[in-house]
Amino acid sequence: MKKLVLVKYASEIFLKGLNKNKFEKKLKENMKNVLKGIDYEFIMDQGRWFVYSEDLDELIERLKKVFGIAELCIVTEIETDMENIYSEALRELKESGAKTFKVETNRANKKFPINSMEVSKMVGAYLLDNSEGFSVDVRKPERRINIEIRDKTYIYSKRIKGIGGMPYGTNGKTLLMLSGGIDSPVAGYMMARRGVKLSCVYYHSHPYTSERAKDKVKELATILKGYTGEITLYVVPFTDIQMSIMDKCREDELTIIMRRFMMRVACKIADKFDIQSVATGESIGQVASQTMEGLVVSNDVADRPVFRPLIASDKIDIMDISRAIGTYETSILPYEDCCTIFVPKHPKTKPVLEEIIKEESVLPIDSLVEDAVNKMEVYKEEL
Ligand code: ATP
Ligand code: MG
Repeated sequence: MKKLVLVKYASEIFLKGLNKNKFEKKLKENMKNVLKGIDYEFIMDQGRWFVYSEDLDELIERLKKVFGIAELCIVTEIETDMENIYSEALRELKESGAKTFKVETNRANKKFPINSMEVSKMVGAYLLDNSEGFSVDVRKPERRINIEIRDKTYIYSKRIKGIGGMPYGTNGKTLLMLSGGIDSPVAGYMMARRGVKLSCVYYHSHPYTSERAKDKVKELATILKGYTGEITLYVVPFTDIQMSIMDKCREDELTIIMRRFMMRVACKIADKFDIQSVATGESIGQVASQTMEGLVVSNDVADRPVFRPLIASDKIDIMDISRAIGTYETSILPYEDCCTIFVPKHPKTKPVLEEIIKEESVLPIDSLVEDAVNKMEVYKEEL
């Protein structure tokens, strides 16, 4: 008896009509990417996807991180005949520990002489006759025992939830502003989960922020890569920009002006690499710079859409996701970030665009941005 994994993809992919093939192809490619390095076999049987490997646990661990997969089922492959189906269904039920069950059959192999309703009935009756303490519950069974009659027959009742979303790489690209904090890795994960390809930018204020702060961001990018298969991180030297702002601008406007620079640099990099949008981990009201006025003023310099998937999320919920996706432990490591070092004592929470534009106009904006982009480091393979 061979155990395999049946891969069920998100129902949204079914709704894609003529584009369905494109999404399926990408999903398959992404699965291949995460399965690199282990021996496995991919089996297509009339629209069903099965994956076989000696190491089923590792296979599942990896497939659980692939966006677009809704469910993974551990199936047993048997020869197609009723005796085999009976005994395997009984084993499956006993092993499950469930008290109530329901049998569901799908007969894709029309050469098999008994129709699916009949098979379900026969197997149900057999299970009741040959076991004790089980009952049928068609509405809310503890276990659904599925029988797929194809060339071979596949039986399963064990289902593992996949992470859902859309296949990575099917919905354009975004440049994520990735800090060492809790929010931005979650924001990146959420964009990636909807199929958007991620690149990341980190603003590094050497020597005010240490190598360790940079390593922390690299580590976060590496964790995200576990979901995306590949990732690029641009590390931009930000000290000159911050020093110029400190030197020439009002203290209470430092943060907002700095955020406008972050946005300008991000757009410049996005433009250079044909990335259509920018994403941040901002959430309305969370800190002084994330007021509606603050967001409006920093958004003003963007030349492309800026996505903020966490804008309406509470911090507690963001933290929950961060734990679930595995970035939390790294995010809470206590290394300084560039914003905490340059925070004004009383930052403006309601900046006025015209005033900010006037205040920053004394700076050589274009050359500061260009210079930062020219000096950035690129990390890809080593992540
Ligand atoms: P996070 O937890 O993501 O750091 P935060 O709550 O600390 O967010 P801010 O520090 O105000 O909030 O940053 C808001 C957003 O700006 C971040 O989510 C991130 O997208 C971006 N950002 C902030 N600092 C940096 C940085 N040093 N490099 C890259 N992006 C940054
Ligand atoms: Mg931060």
